[in-house]
Amino acid sequence: MKSITTKVRNGFGTGEWADTNRNCRIGCSNDCAYCYARANALKDGIIANRAAWPIEKADDVAIAKRHFKLNGLVMFPTRHDTTPANIQYNLPYLTGLLAAGNEVLFVSKANLSCIQEICRQLVNFKSQLLIRVTIGSMHPLLCKFWERNAPSPQERLQALQHAHEQGFETSVSMEPMLHGVEDAVETFRAVEPFVTEKVWIGAMNSIDTRVDKSNPNFNKAVADLKKLQSHSELLRLHGILKDEPKVSWKESITKLLG
Ligand code: SF4
Repeated sequence: MKSITTKVRNGFGTGEWADTNRNCRIGCSNDCAYCYARANALKDGIIANRAAWPIEKADDVAIAKRHFKLNGLVMFPTRHDTTPANIQYNLPYLTGLLAAGNEVLFVSKANLSCIQEICRQLVNFKSQLLIRVTIGSMHPLLCKFWERNAPSPQERLQALQHAHEQGFETSVSMEPMLHGVEDAVETFRAVEPFVTEKVWIGAMNSIDTRVDKSNPNFNKAVADLKKLQSHSELLRLHGILKDEPKVSWKESITKLLG
């Protein structure tokens, strides 16, 4: 089977992963507390306030565009997720990208039934598709706190296992890590057997501006996470996992290496 063309890229965020990106929805029902896409949508005036973000709507302009072959790896999506409530829109969009000849990095806080459907319907595009599941911790309460409407990490792991068993190229994003060093090592050990490509590890970025610190629970969690993901702690994590062949470090960690 031909492998997806992955390579090390110079860039930030999704720019480290793909050459271009595509989305077909505005808003994301997962409503993660640290969401970078919501912060950008607020800055650009796409949504009026934080409360508008989880109320998804179709991006009619994006959907109306014809798909064509793009240069390099295409990430889909970067500003929303694929859920049982929107898969009837997202799957045709993803299929269109693949049918146009693109190699696609599909990223999700994976719902098991969605991944099963994607693997079933896109079996003929296996050589063009890399499935990346985001799992920042294996602890369900931590995920519930930070990613309140997303599937549990156990369900995401099941979805990853399913894609792996079906013979798809698989990957994990541990960005953002939701806790400290030991939790990250435990998460890496849990996901690594089901990964054919890389496990990307990164800290929680721009935490002071993206998280709503007017909420006392999040204010406290931000303070705790800053200690758990301090410069020295991230270097300790790097020391533990640096020789693991499947680990790739996001810019939030590589910039500390000097
Ligand atoms: S899944 Fe991604 S886009 Fe959706 S709320 Fe979470 S961080 Fe934002």
